[in-house]
Order: sequence, then structure tokens, then C-alpha cells
Amino acid sequence: MAWFGEFQRDLPWRRTRDPYRIWLSEIMLQQTRVAAAIPYYERFLERFPTVQALAEAPEEEVLRLWSGLGYYSRARNLQKAARDVVAKHGGMFPREAEAALRLPGIGAYTAAAILSIAYQEKMAVLDGNVARVLARLGGVRGDLRANGTWAKLQETADSLLAGGAPGDWNQAMMELGATVCAPRSPQCLLCPVSEFCEARKKGWIEEIPAKRRKRDAVEITLAALVVLDEKGKTLLLPPPKTLRSPGAADDVPALVSRMWHFPTISARRETAAMELQKFARKWVFSGRKTGAEFVMLQAVRHAVTYRAVTVLPFLARVERLPKVAGAKMLTLEDLSEVAISNLTRKVGRAAEKRISRKL
Ligand code: SF4
Repeated sequence: MAWFGEFQRDLPWRRTRDPYRIWLSEIMLQQTRVAAAIPYYERFLERFPTVQALAEAPEEEVLRLWSGLGYYSRARNLQKAARDVVAKHGGMFPREAEAALRLPGIGAYTAAAILSIAYQEKMAVLDGNVARVLARLGGVRGDLRANGTWAKLQETADSLLAGGAPGDWNQAMMELGATVCAPRSPQCLLCPVSEFCEARKKGWIEEIPAKRRKRDAVEITLAALVVLDEKGKTLLLPPPKTLRSPGAADDVPALVSRMWHFPTISARRETAAMELQKFARKWVFSGRKTGAEFVMLQAVRHAVTYRAVTVLPFLARVERLPKVAGAKMLTLEDLSEVAISNLTRKVGRAAEKRISRKL
């Protein structure tokens, strides 16, 4: 605790005890690095300073402010939970673990983090960082995520918890894992608990945690159409309502994160242009022949968990954009006015690059 008092990083969510702000930070920090999360956290709170403001906002706007952070189910669940908090808990994040765990997007770790930091509830957190610290301290080898091992680590975390200041204790443990007891090359010489560390004594630091076998990446190829009119406007299709979209492969809606997107299909690399033309004629140009040339742009690479996606974008210039139900017409510079995923942003950039080279 003394070490944390002296060396903790000054982070925006550490300057508040507001449960809403702490909750938001915990959700943003799942899967996102601190430095990347900070500007999003600040922008988000500027627009939605209270849980009520978030609950009342259109989902589209919440996603727009989340756009670029990835893992958009976090934002969707956050808003659903905000609506529950307003409807069922008088606008205050519930204090009881049971009620907190019923909210969308709140699991054991997140509940413990929010309740201990905001309300000083005696709940010990266990995430990847804390598990690594505890495993090294106790010399626990093997797969830390294995059921029995994880449960034992949770017991250890519970027994160590400083009951007088559980929020600070949890943050200290997380900070130790994030800044000193890093996965690779931990800084044991600066570690405040090195004298208790079994892994250090036994020379097991490199072995803990055991390397997990990575799932082999699945290669996916998509083809996307950037259709551009004479005023420089392009066509974006609305967020798919379901996980199936007409004429497109089943995984396209998930790969565009169910947000605004260019007309996109799953395709074979060798025949992508032909397949996209066929798709576009039917679903974008309503059967009309346009004569527009499909110019291939620089391929875009995108990784989503275990999927390695290659998008082959094509540019088609037309006099006037076709009318497609629900679609938006925007310039490439203004794509961020609506909620788009990083994949769509990268395709937009590939098109901008080509246009700026006047090719
Ligand atoms: Fe981690 Fe090293 Fe501290 Fe052990 S001594 S807890 S391995 S930083």
C-alpha cells in the first residue's frame, strides 16, 4: 500500500469515487491499454457526464464515441446496464454484488473492482495481472486459467485483501501487475514484495504464467465497395440488425462490428472483383448496369481475436449515388460522423489515399 501511495500512476479515474466513472473506466480497460483508453474516457464523459445521460442517448451516438476502441459489445452492454441502473436502481450503480452481477457486461472481476473502489466493499479482484502477481508470489505453475487454479488464486486474493481499504488494495495489486510484475522481464529489483516471491527464489519467473497455446488464426477475405459520386460522397450501409445480411456471408455483420459499413462481402481473393460486382449490381445498384470500373485499392489487414481479415477494397466512380434503403451518403472525411468500426475506417483511408494521389 505504501508503494502504491508513492508510485501509482495519475489516471483520470483515480481522481474520483463516482461509481459511474469508475464503472466506465473498468469497461473501457477490458481489452484496451490505459494510454489508448484515456482520450476515449474523457470524450465519453464530456458527452455523457451522468448515467442518466448515457441511458437516454441513442445507441448510435454511444457507438460513435466508442468508435475505434473495438469490442463494441462493451459499449452496447454498458448502455443497456445504464438503462437498468436508471430504471431499477434510482440511477446509482448498485452496492450489492448480486445486483451488480445481473447488469449486462458485469462479471465477477468488474463487479469486485467497481464495488471495492467506489463503495469500499470487501471484494478482491482477480484479473490476468493480479493472477500473475499472486502466482509468482506463491510459486503456482501451470495454466492459471484452469478452473481449480483460478479458484485457488481467488481464495488467495480474498485472504490477502486489506479490509480497511479494499479499493486501494485492489488497485495496488493491479498496478503492481501492470507496471512492475509485467508478463515479460518483470522489474524484480523495484518490486516492493520481492522478499516474499517464491518464483524469484526458485528461478521460475519465466515459467509463470505458463504460455497458453494460441488458437490458430483463421484467414478471412472480404471485398468492400467504395462507390464515389462526383461530389466526393460515398455510400455507407446501416448497421446490420441481425448477424445475417442480404446476399453477404454470415460473418460480415460481425466483422463490421454491426456498425455503419461499406457494402461488403466475403469473397475469394482471385475472384473478388467479379463477386463484388455481382453483389453490387443486385444490392447496391438495384439491377442497373452502371458501367463503372471497379478499381482495386490497397488491401487492408485487420485482426479480430483469432481472425485475420484481409479486405480488398474497390473504388467505383459514378455520376450519382444509387438510392439504397437506410444508407447514408457521406464524404470520406466525414465517415466518423457515424459509428464505424476500425475495419471500415481503414477501408475509407485506403480510398482517400488513392484519391489524393489522383489515380
Ligand atoms: Fe513479480 Fe519479481 Fe515482484 Fe516476484 S519479485 S512479484 S516476479 S516483480
